[in-house]
Amino acid sequence: AVQHYLQQIEARRHLNAYVYIYAEEALKRAAELDASRKAGKPTGKLHGVVIALKDVIAYKDHPLTAASKILEGFKPVFNATAVERLLAEEAIIIGSTNCDEFAMGSTNENSAYGKVLNALDESRVPGGSSGGSAVAVQANQCMVSLGSDTGGSVRQPADFCGVVGLKPTYGRISRHGLIAYASSFDQIGIFANNVPDVALVLEIIAGPDDFDSTGAQQPVDAYSNLTPLPSKPLRIAYFKEALESPALDKEIRNSILEFTKKLQADGHTVEPVDFEYLDFIVPAYYILTTAESSSNLSRYDGVKYGHRNVEKNNSLTEFYCATRSEGFGWEVKRRIMLGTFVLSAGYYDAYFTKAQQVRKLLVEKINLIFSQFDAILLPTAPSTAFTIGEKTEDPISMYLADIFTVFSNLTGIPTISIPLFWHSNGMPYGLQIMTNQFSELYLLQLSQLWM
Ligand code: GLN
Repeated sequence: AVQHYLQQIEARRHLNAYVYIYAEEALKRAAELDASRKAGKPTGKLHGVVIALKDVIAYKDHPLTAASKILEGFKPVFNATAVERLLAEEAIIIGSTNCDEFAMGSTNENSAYGKVLNALDESRVPGGSSGGSAVAVQANQCMVSLGSDTGGSVRQPADFCGVVGLKPTYGRISRHGLIAYASSFDQIGIFANNVPDVALVLEIIAGPDDFDSTGAQQPVDAYSNLTPLPSKPLRIAYFKEALESPALDKEIRNSILEFTKKLQADGHTVEPVDFEYLDFIVPAYYILTTAESSSNLSRYDGVKYGHRNVEKNNSLTEFYCATRSEGFGWEVKRRIMLGTFVLSAGYYDAYFTKAQQVRKLLVEKINLIFSQFDAILLPTAPSTAFTIGEKTEDPISMYLADIFTVFSNLTGIPTISIPLFWHSNGMPYGLQIMTNQFSELYLLQLSQLWM
């Protein structure tokens, strides 16, 4: 299997899905695992499963750069908890995948390693920020990959590439060893070609962890035991305002509406619910995440990690300034400035406090909806994959395209994108399904039913 995936990587190296490939090491580990199995030793649940990691997830003694020049040369001295758990079940890590710098972006065009191409149409982006992880699964360059999802970075690239992408409940998977973008939003997520593969990997990496105090204590369900749901009528909601949004592609709208009609014909209740907050979710998301990221990224000062400017050192300020100016890309700088602004004394209440209030309202809204419904359906993105360069000059329009994904991170609920549809432009797109906190098993069962 490792040889097969290495061949696939080489055959389409230009897709640029991987930033580091651990060919020899992966082959050696495969041989060792094979020998151990042949010697009659019990095998792990992921024996020989070939996995790629987004370049924001720590794999001990291997490069970890968040696709940023500022982390050039950095190697972590410990494994992320998720990686530790994968390895304990005998998975094989084949390499680390390209992404937007510090997971900030929706196209994978903000990477120090260059852009990633969508394997289905190389003139298009794969989505982002976990574009490399999505393409690695899409182009058959690994079995499963991990990404991170702060505002849609697993679901949106899964949607653009035609694969399955899951963002679990906030706190379901330990963030220990995940480079922080916005800590109260970040969650590790999983890409695969099918729901059972996602379920099995989730079962292994989820669960409490002493190294992450924000991790959930809830016991982990046997996600891989995807028994079919009992055939009772489901109560499904969709956001009326979202489907009426002028930004939504008409074909996408129609296929979601047709899907809801099909569910109704099968005897399920499907109802539109008012979602009066639609216009506030993208601003609230970008205020809160830039605030958190400006604080999280202050640690990259050229002293502790990676890149440093050694010439400009007349004063500490000059040194920090030169190092950070060289090390960070434009999008990251934009967000550090935005975040610093919204946290500044004069504007804190007008922006940060307001956005926190919006977040609270959204959580109340979601609790109300889940007291009446089992699941919410939404498109994953308002359009299919953008063409390369289409949105690079217009960050606001790029941010607005996150309209359907950021909601689940603001509220912390588990959400999946499953590839159900094809557009007349030849590109795939998905259905986004959301369920209540910690109901991943149910979410996966629903997905399996509909895929
Ligand atoms: N596109 C969003 C952003 O740029 C989502 C990023 C993410 O989920 N990491 O913030």
